[in-house]
Amino acid sequence: AGLVVAMDGPSGSGKSSASRGVARALGLRYLDTGAQYRAMTWWILRQGVDLADSATIAARCGEPEIVSGTDPDSPAIHVGAVDVAGPIREDEVTSAVSAVAAVPEVRARLVALQREIIGAGDIVVEGRDIGTVVAPDAPVKIYLTASPEARAQRRSAELAGTTAEAQQAALARRDTLDSTRKTDPLSMADGAVELDTTALNLDEVIAEVLRLVKE
Ligand code: C5P
Repeated sequence: AGLVVAMDGPSGSGKSSASRGVARALGLRYLDTGAQYRAMTWWILRQGVDLADSATIAARCGEPEIVSGTDPDSPAIHVGAVDVAGPIREDEVTSAVSAVAAVPEVRARLVALQREIIGAGDIVVEGRDIGTVVAPDAPVKIYLTASPEARAQRRSAELAGTTAEAQQAALARRDTLDSTRKTDPLSMADGAVELDTTALNLDEVIAEVLRLVKE
């Protein structure tokens, strides 16, 4: 089977840039599973479904067609024919996504979709539960971490009009939501290698992952 590289870790750990860089360097496809949870959340919000109404979210999460591109040079995400790459990064989606991702039916649907895309492999998959749930047999599993300060700084550099302090509070809130829910909390997979990116630049992180892939 083709190579699968599982890249898990919290947001701000440098996952996205590193995953894309690794895919590019190795000529592999790239899948951003966080974008799929965000796309589902965008659709749920647009339907006017109450975020506390997990029964309705569970009942309707099969309706939207979520289409992920796998080119690391231009990661695309559509819901039906609508390009949602921009809207899924807005605050409204970011603050709602943990609630939607906690619904077991949402996870089951997206995990099945992810496994379909992973297929025969040759792909770098970025998320939170790739090494534990989606692709536990992946030959390479990386768990990226970084200090809370470094994560907040990276997030605020990405987003206009926000401070590192505000980002640190928002990330801490999302971490708590993501790690205390009963369904697939963020945790390190068996066989995963932890990579602390706090003191590394992007090229150094990519080089380290490439070294682990070649091992
Ligand atoms: O990686 P990103 O910040 O875009 O992920 C957004 C949210 O999607 C996370 O905070 C988490 O709630 C959810 N997620 C998940 N499982 C994944 C990827 C993302 O629950 N594999």
